[in-house]
Amino acid sequence: MHGPDRLIQGMAGGGDFRIIAAQTTETVETARELLDLAPVAADALGRALTGSLILARLLDKALKNQYVTLRFEGDGPLGVVIAEGTVAGHARGYVANPVPTDAALDVPHALGRGRLTVVRGVPPEGRPYTSQLLTTGTGIAQDITRYLHRSEQITSAVLLGVLNRRDGVAAAGGIVIQVFPHATEESISAIEQRIKEAPPLSTLLEKLPIEDVVATVLHDVEYKQIDAGHTVPVSYSCSCSRERALAPITLFGEAEILEMIGEGGTEVVCQFCGRKYAFTSEDLLALTAKHDA
Ligand SMILES: [Zn+2]
Repeated sequence: MHGPDRLIQGMAGGGDFRIIAAQTTETVETARELLDLAPVAADALGRALTGSLILARLLDKALKNQYVTLRFEGDGPLGVVIAEGTVAGHARGYVANPVPTDAALDVPHALGRGRLTVVRGVPPEGRPYTSQLLTTGTGIAQDITRYLHRSEQITSAVLLGVLNRRDGVAAAGGIVIQVFPHATEESISAIEQRIKEAPPLSTLLEKLPIEDVVATVLHDVEYKQIDAGHTVPVSYSCSCSRERALAPITLFGEAEILEMIGEGGTEVVCQFCGRKYAFTSEDLLALTAKHDA
């Protein structure tokens, strides 16, 4: 195929534009398998995952661990959709209702209208930076464009695409074009024209590696990729652990924990990757001991 998933960066239009692009086919296919996503859910989450990975890089302030979380809460049948991407190229996500009954919906209708919350931060310390906007049901790329404009004062064009085939995700990826304040009207209208004329991103991504997809979209606009040393490998990767799975249980009251003990223990399933963590009665007894302390 087109090589492993990766994020690339470049400059275009003689320094008027910064380009960040990602090929995320395997990442989105992994999400589809782990979370049992119907095609429209894979499409929505795939766009959101790609967007979160690119945003984590775009908004990078030399913070190695920075993450960006996109949380869509719309009135569509998918319900809450969460995508989290890091500067290091790790992504994970969640869809509340991964198999909506109406299989023919497109992403804007499957998400519906509601709210997008964008959180970026650096674990474990550092207060996360949160902003919210109302979504108008026009699509994830448009929502991200509006977020960048309103909350980050960044003018951009955002292109995202996922191609589903019968046996899974055949292509996924995205391009964000950041317009620098010194860009001329002329170069902006030239690049707008390229975007308008470009074939759908998902079909390009199926045919070409991401480097060639970017070159095809921009065709006669001067473009230079930043050297491959800045290319970031991208993958679906969950940071859950037994310790973190236990954390929510510690918030329960003693009566609830005693009930779990009576049932012989409990199991916590990670919503991002499906990994299961089992806690025995003894594990839970240790928790109540801590409660008492
Ligand atoms: Zn997990």
